[in-house]
Amino acid sequence: MIFLFKRLMPKYSVIGYLADASQVLSISRETLQHVSRYRQFAPWASEAGGQLFGTINAAKVCVTEASGPYAGDERSRHQYRSSPTAAQRAIEDRHKRGLLYLGEWHTHAEDYPSASGFDDDAMRSLIANSQLNSNALLMMIVGRARSAEGLAVWSVSSESARQWILSAELAET
Ligand SMILES: [Zn+2]
Repeated sequence: MIFLFKRLMPKYSVIGYLADASQVLSISRETLQHVSRYRQFAPWASEAGGQLFGTINAAKVCVTEASGPYAGDERSRHQYRSSPTAAQRAIEDRHKRGLLYLGEWHTHAEDYPSASGFDDDAMRSLIANSQLNSNALLMMIVGRARSAEGLAVWSVSSESARQWILSAELAET
């Protein structure tokens, strides 16, 4: 059983590009392993989610860590909302370690995830109601398919949602 569980964990990281920008997205293997634990394989499994952390500069967005889910989240088969207090605590904790809050992640009970209208609205209201340094946040949706096809990532701002083109990269170790 432990062997099987390990086998399902990604051994790769993910690199992303936008069609109209030179900035690169990198999602660490650790981040992928964290979110993969919550993929909705079981027919009764609820959505899970949390926050994404890392570093950002003009050339590269690096997602190095994911947090959540938390006790007190709102979770159902087709909806997820983080407990605001738990999310805030996670953000402050990572901030002390020099990691920036970069956005949100949650799972979908579908192989190849697409964003629901609810997801777009939730991201826009998050951006409108938060005091962020940046005006865009990442939204990552984790589907059931393995490899990069099971992931979808957008950069969401108040004006637009741009999807990253993802590919898997073998991790060094
Ligand atoms: Zn969703």
